[in-house]
Amino acid sequence: MVLPPKDHPRYKSLLAREKLVEASDVVANQGLIAHGRGEAFDYLLGEQTCLPALSAIKAASSAILAAKKPVISVNGNVVALAAREIARLSEISGAKVEINLFHRTPERIVGLTKMMKKVGIDALGENADDKIPGLSSERAKCCSDGIGSADVVLVPLEDGDRCEALVKMGKKVITIDLNPLSRTAQTAHITIVDELTRCLPLLSDFVKEKKGVDSFDNKQCLSDVLNYMAERISS
Ligand code: ATP
Ligand code: MG
Repeated sequence: MVLPPKDHPRYKSLLAREKLVEASDVVANQGLIAHGRGEAFDYLLGEQTCLPALSAIKAASSAILAAKKPVISVNGNVVALAAREIARLSEISGAKVEINLFHRTPERIVGLTKMMKKVGIDALGENADDKIPGLSSERAKCCSDGIGSADVVLVPLEDGDRCEALVKMGKKVITIDLNPLSRTAQTAHITIVDELTRCLPLLSDFVKEKKGVDSFDNKQCLSDVLNYMAERISS
């Protein structure tokens, strides 16, 4: 990997791009496009965790703490950018990790399984023996001891169609998505509008300290995020 110069003002952003390019055998090209869309929204947030996002992180912590079978669903972008942060959340919360790909190939599943193994996680995904109803072929595959039987699913950077299918299955769905207008953001029960690697450590800390919130309204939260962005633009 070609490391960007440490004194570059956009060091973190360049490093994230390098990580994704470096993992090009397991990250779909489409994932690079999705990353670019995320970066654009992060500019509107000032590349920091806003207060509404913090309340969503606390709500996510509550949901994970209350879950009987929490599962973290990861794709290529998530593993390439945040394998360690996912491993820490999994260890602290007891949530299983399942590799669940929109552009699923056996090679990508094997590669991502190895990357999670390097950070100490035995991820599910290789033996997908279950299906998410309402989705076609490869996109539907999942594991019966993972997503199939989970009550709470954290699916960062998920596609809107699949997010909706998980909600229809009766799962409590938490997502991380920088675009508050995406179908995923609008469909999930708890949407954390924040950058993946920035919010995961906060979420892990809350779960570790057993902190959360009693009530949370996702529609209100998304509206607060949009107002925050609008105020930043108009000022
Ligand atoms: P939808 O299908 O939900 O309408 P979409 O088709 O625009 O959304 P997808 O490619 O399906 O987008 O999902 C990826 C989402 O993840 C995008 O909304 C993007 O903004 C967001 N995203 C990309 N990179 C990050 C990141 N590092 N942290 C948080 N969110 C990100
Ligand atoms: Mg989509």
